Amino acid sequence: MLFFLGNTAFAQSDIPTDYFSSPLDIPLILSGSFGELRSNHFHSGFDIKTQQKEGFPVYAPADGYVNRIKVAHYGYGKALYIQHPNGYSTVYAHLQNFAGSIQNYVKDNQYKKETFELELFPDASLLPVSKGDVIGYTGNTGSSGGPHLHFEIRDSASRPMNPMLFGIEIPDSKKPIINSVFAYPIDANSHVDQSQNPVKLRLKLQKDGSYITEKIAGFGKIGFGVSTNDQLDGASNKNGVYQIRSVFNGVEKFNILFEKFSFDETRYLNRFIDYEYFVKNKSRVQKLFRQSNNPLSIIKNEEDNGYVILEDGFSATYTIEVTDFKKNTVIITIPMEGKNSEILEKKDLKETEDYIYADQATSITKGKFGIYIPSNSLYEDTFLDIQVQGDTLKLHEDVIPLHKNITITMDASNYKAADFEKLYIGRLNYKGQPYYNTTYRKGDKLSTNTRTFGTYTLAMDTIAPSIKPLNFENGKWISKNSTLQLKIEDDLSGIGSYRATVNGKFILMEYNYKKDVLTYNFNDNVVIDSENNLKVIVVDNVGNSATFEATFFRK
Ligand SMILES: [Zn+2]
Repeated sequence: MLFFLGNTAFAQSDIPTDYFSSPLDIPLILSGSFGELRSNHFHSGFDIKTQQKEGFPVYAPADGYVNRIKVAHYGYGKALYIQHPNGYSTVYAHLQNFAGSIQNYVKDNQYKKETFELELFPDASLLPVSKGDVIGYTGNTGSSGGPHLHFEIRDSASRPMNPMLFGIEIPDSKKPIINSVFAYPIDANSHVDQSQNPVKLRLKLQKDGSYITEKIAGFGKIGFGVSTNDQLDGASNKNGVYQIRSVFNGVEKFNILFEKFSFDETRYLNRFIDYEYFVKNKSRVQKLFRQSNNPLSIIKNEEDNGYVILEDGFSATYTIEVTDFKKNTVIITIPMEGKNSEILEKKDLKETEDYIYADQATSITKGKFGIYIPSNSLYEDTFLDIQVQGDTLKLHEDVIPLHKNITITMDASNYKAADFEKLYIGRLNYKGQPYYNTTYRKGDKLSTNTRTFGTYTLAMDTIAPSIKPLNFENGKWISKNSTLQLKIEDDLSGIGSYRATVNGKFILMEYNYKKDVLTYNFNDNVVIDSENNLKVIVVDNVGNSATFEATFFRK
């Protein structure tokens, strides 16, 4: 018998385990773990819960200096990057604010550049930090669904690493949860339980917490997949696991370890999971086999790409071992017998006139629309269902993942020039409304780029945004206000840009897209007169502009 030690991948010896302290002084309860499966990416750090509140101080976990700051409406919101002398860097995202000299440096640059959103790369000497310094405050900025700190540790090649490897303690006494297990017939002649389609296996829980499935009868090349989550102590969130290993008749077939990855491979998550099953069932099945165009480095070991070959008349056992960082483990045993029986369920495959070769660039013209698909946008050769009806393009369905942007071009020459300016291409959302997709104009053509299949249509937005004061009134004294807040909204194309001035001078306003609110903070100390004329201009994504003016008094 051969023994393959899955744990040889646990080569942690060169990772310092006492270098970084916790960035927060509250108990570390995670709403997101490293490597967790998210939309189009693997989660690159910890999401640390902050008791549904904002404003907890964030401490530098080690000495270093600030080498990057990014402020954005979406994504990481207010984000801070610290370079440490040992080569590692750390990242803090969704901050409410930066602290001390970092905050002053950001504000100075925001006023100088007259913009809220910016990215800065300060020199090593400018913003040094010592272990324990307050560098910012936790928040909920950017695309964050609730107050938390997103914390990352990156290696010297900017690859995010599992912070648990650095000795940051997260209590975890619970075993991973197994949601479902699937068998995938791979070749044209392979089948499982007389089907060529993926088969969901029935799981039977054993007394010791392990699972056994009903015996499957199959033939040929077969792969397996598992949907699993881990639960940490003190949180009900479903987090990612640390390791998934599979063994076939005593030989390690596949070994996935969530320790480190690089950002240029993160989108291959869509190749790794059963994408169609995820779109339809909101559950991510991780495939324990490596298909073409899957370069993921989290796969540490594989034998025959993780596939098993089941021969007629032979019995075999496949086991899946799911483990969290604290080594709580669940084992799933799948007994199999090789049986080349009749295939009763043929592969679900809709043939169309548009068969796309993944490794070739393709241009398709249909009605008013042109579609350009660069090479390697698709992971495999695929039939696409493309139909045009007037100004609407049905571009397959969001059941196949796209790795690269494809371009949709539309001829809008039948529209009048004045209308043309207000047109955009939108993707129909689940309510059937056209959600704005950044639209470019050239001649009488409109174009947009997308990485999601679906239905795209032409839409028109002729209505300017609305602007309403929230905490002040025109002509009134507001000496006690610490902020100036306005609600800004736009139907259809959405908010594109905004600019605010007081007595002709730029004031910094922070836009919270989740609340549709613009906020100015009086402690910026740029509003110094007693009579103040505020002017706010908001422009939507197709150029409809609204201007709001009001006078307020302060002493
Ligand atoms: Zn996060």
